[in-house]
Amino acid sequence: MHAVYFSNNNFFNAYPFSSDMMHYDVVIVGAGPAGLNCARVLGDAGKKVLLLEKNAEIGPKVCGGGLLLSGFGYLKSLGLPDELIVHRYHDIVFHSRFITSKVRSEKDLAFMIERKELGRWQLSLLDKKYVDVQTNALVTEIKHNSIIINGKKEISFDHLVGADGAYSVVRRWLRLPCKKMAYCFQYTIPGDAYKHFEIFYDSARFHTWYAWIMPHKGYITLGTGCSPEYVNPKKIYDNFHEWIHDNNIDISRAVYKSHAVTADYRGHRFGNVYLVGDAAGFPSALTGEGIYEALVSGEEIARMMLDDKYDSEKIRRILQLKKKHEKHLATMVRAGIFRPFLYELFGLLLKTQRFQMRVKRAFVEQ
Ligand SMILES: Cc1cc2nc3c(=O)[nH]c(=O)nc-3n(C[C@H](O)[C@H](O)[C@H](O)COP(=O)(O)OP(=O)(O)OC[C@H]3O[C@@H](n4cnc5c(N)ncnc54)[C@H](O)[C@@H]3O)c2cc1C
Repeated sequence: MHAVYFSNNNFFNAYPFSSDMMHYDVVIVGAGPAGLNCARVLGDAGKKVLLLEKNAEIGPKVCGGGLLLSGFGYLKSLGLPDELIVHRYHDIVFHSRFITSKVRSEKDLAFMIERKELGRWQLSLLDKKYVDVQTNALVTEIKHNSIIINGKKEISFDHLVGADGAYSVVRRWLRLPCKKMAYCFQYTIPGDAYKHFEIFYDSARFHTWYAWIMPHKGYITLGTGCSPEYVNPKKIYDNFHEWIHDNNIDISRAVYKSHAVTADYRGHRFGNVYLVGDAAGFPSALTGEGIYEALVSGEEIARMMLDDKYDSEKIRRILQLKKKHEKHLATMVRAGIFRPFLYELFGLLLKTQRFQMRVKRAFVEQ
């Protein structure tokens, strides 16, 4: 069954293009944070939009659900209700192999959100008059000016937006290579045995990445990731389980899921086809964060579609930060056998006021 929201009769925003094909100003593939935010801006501007989601439900996604101040501030500017933030953290605990240090702040440094609730809320912001949302709608084929849903229904468009995440079918159709990726492994564990947002650096186990514990409401996410460019994901997966075992973390009631993050940005406009969020490779290769980047690129690229001359300072800033993160990652890769010492040094420096200030600033300014 296909569910179509916001219309009494399916595709009421569309108009017939030929005798049997419906037409939209913009078709957006994927209803994650990027696609939903792009649809909001275009719908508010009176564009006829079709937003397609392959899953039955909008929102749920394998994700830690962590936001920094940038993401939180952005969502608040859209009117995010307070109750959608399930946790706020003043303190972040960093572990290296031998040192545990706490970054303490007067202000909140990190925020936890439920992806399901974020999706629902973003859905509620769409203008029903202009945006049709169809779930259970897998885009199976892309042609020059049309797409095919579930191998059957063909819809034509003026503009196409690929907001379909790490395994984007739109990106593949554009034949863009994707070299910088991160594979992420995550457990969702019921209960509230952990109270702190914790980051674990351990070069022997997680190479240049880290493991995280992010407590939510009634459960925690526990995960890690790796760049297959530098390390074998199977090895990291095994090391992750060895680490879980050594730390006596009970995963007997946990749900395991894995997913990729793409960080290989090759542009966002390709004629009348656009890429946003993970599909474009906006996430950080160093941290795997991509929610803020998805939201902002969704909005900014919609604005570019509405005004050819629109110049996005926000996208420029995201790309600058990405470059900085990539440099840092390259340094950590090059550090090789010295990497464990760098992590211990980081732990030691965090014990000093001055370095704490720098790290806090980095969190707040991202
Ligand atoms: C384990 C893990 C933990 C993470 N933790 C964090 C974190 O704590 N903080 C953070 O900022 N980021 C995190 N990320 C990254 C974050 O999840 C993504 O960057 C973000 O979801 C990107 O949003 P998006 O809208 O671009 O793509 P997505 O959220 O992936 O949405 C894409 C949508 O497109 C749909 N779709 C895909 N293909 C098709 C198709 N052919 N037809 C129709 N629909 C399709 C999908 O079902 C999906 O709903 C994490 C990622 C992983 C894997």
